[in-house]
Amino acid sequence: MQEFIYYNPKELDFPLSEEILVTTNIEDTKEKNFLISNTKEVQSELNASEIEFYINNSKDSVSAKIENVLKLYEIAASKYDFAQDISYSEEVSKQLLLITNSQEEYEAFTACIMPDDFELFSVNEDIVKEISGHIGNLTVIVDDEGKDVTLNVSQIVWFDAKQIGLNQSGTFDPNLSSVEEVVQTLKENINEYSYKKFTTYDQSICQYHERREEICSKCEEVCPTVAITKDDETKTLGFSQIDCHGCGGCVSVCPSGAIDYAPSNKESLFEMSKFYEETHPLVVPEKMNIGDLNLSLKENVLPFAVEGEKFLHEASFLTLLQISGSQVIFYSDFISKGSGDAIRIVNDIYQAKYGKDAILVAMNEEELQNALEEVSFIEGSEFNFNQDTLKKREIFSHRLQKIVGDEDLGEVKTGEHVHYGLVKVNEDKCTLCLVCVGACNVDALQADASDNTLRLNPSLCTSCGYCEVSCPEADCLTIERDVIKLEPTWFKESVLAQDELFACVECGVEFATVKSVTKIADMMAPLFSHDPVKERSLYCCADCKPKIMMQNYYDQKNKGND
Ligand code: SF4
Ligand code: SF4
Repeated sequence: MQEFIYYNPKELDFPLSEEILVTTNIEDTKEKNFLISNTKEVQSELNASEIEFYINNSKDSVSAKIENVLKLYEIAASKYDFAQDISYSEEVSKQLLLITNSQEEYEAFTACIMPDDFELFSVNEDIVKEISGHIGNLTVIVDDEGKDVTLNVSQIVWFDAKQIGLNQSGTFDPNLSSVEEVVQTLKENINEYSYKKFTTYDQSICQYHERREEICSKCEEVCPTVAITKDDETKTLGFSQIDCHGCGGCVSVCPSGAIDYAPSNKESLFEMSKFYEETHPLVVPEKMNIGDLNLSLKENVLPFAVEGEKFLHEASFLTLLQISGSQVIFYSDFISKGSGDAIRIVNDIYQAKYGKDAILVAMNEEELQNALEEVSFIEGSEFNFNQDTLKKREIFSHRLQKIVGDEDLGEVKTGEHVHYGLVKVNEDKCTLCLVCVGACNVDALQADASDNTLRLNPSLCTSCGYCEVSCPEADCLTIERDVIKLEPTWFKESVLAQDELFACVECGVEFATVKSVTKIADMMAPLFSHDPVKERSLYCCADCKPKIMMQNYYDQKNKGND
């Protein structure tokens, strides 16, 4: 099967690889299945508009162009293979609610539709009390002269919509585009609304899931819709894929990597990055419409197309940076909270090591042209290893360690939305109860049974603070937040506390740490001082404690019988 198709009615002035079917006749593409095409005009599993953009703008030599066009097809195929963005659909009826206070807006909308396009209801904005549900199944509660009335509709048009309407999928505001565009979208949605799964979730490393205290819900905080909700009673997250826009904002702020981006997950991003060795990656989100750009892409600049613009985080940026060995250009008209912090952190690290920024952000065409002129390789920055089985923090730690090496490059501050930190323990207060180890689900804290130590790998710590709230000792465990120390010790396990094991005074079996036994004994000794057996039980293991107490009981009883 021919998987790659290049269609353009205008002929290309250079040949393409034999693996790509090249045609100037759209009829050649009819009733055939293709995996990747360069244009939406051809039916295929994935359209890769960056191919046309590269062909039109690149200054690469002809031989490099032939190679790079094939590479762009292969990158898109790799993206398709690794994507976990399963498609779903929802039935959508013709029931449509128009919310407006203005006769003019009402008329502007009704002028653009035919009578049988929709079953149209209209209400005044002032009486809308509540909106819930999602496209195809929306519930609107309105106040009808003091009585709540429920309306069930499939879609809503709301001029200058309020947040209660925009949270759910299915509400469209003509003031954000135009009445014509909204009508077109509404019509396309009728019968079957297709949507994709944009996020995957691993609750085992989520720092909100079933925790006693709320120490993280960053994904829910940044989600612009109701796609992520939290239940504070059960401490569980809810995911509504139909309400998800696919922006990816939750992915970049998730400290542990519990949320990943289904269209380009961690593994997919790594596989795609491998194609960018010795190139300058130009990251372009789908919404940026690069088709109209007329630029000079200097040699070795290769577009890296991404769906959402917000899912890229410090580990994904560093992967692309180190595999390419180059600065990366990020062309987006919006920088999200998580990606913004990640860019600043990675840039600060690269400034400390290489004296230049890692990521050149371009927010408009002029800035993009400047960035394209500036972008360069960074000598010594290349690094590749198999990161497939590692989690987000582990990947970043491993890659950062390569940058730091044996040097002391100072420290960088982490951000408001991306946190790193350093756990500190007051060894005198720590009884080595290891509650903190149980609390840490990213393996930053570890217990080592061979030498009875509590250890920390700072580079893995998300500074979530669950160990801090779980520690039963006062003034024992604290966290220095929002810092990454660019020095070798940051990546090595260090000993936070150590103790000896205490041997049971009856059987000699080691059963707890010296500090924990001493602490309990110090607390209880005044109460037990009148009774030497009870006092001794404080130094006994769980098996011997009842034994000596029972023995004492029978001894006393037998004494009484004598
Ligand atoms: S941001 Fe990540 S760790 Fe935090 S609650 Fe969401 S999924 Fe869990
Ligand atoms: S060491 Fe403490 S603060 Fe750091 S990730 Fe683990 S539980 Fe959270």
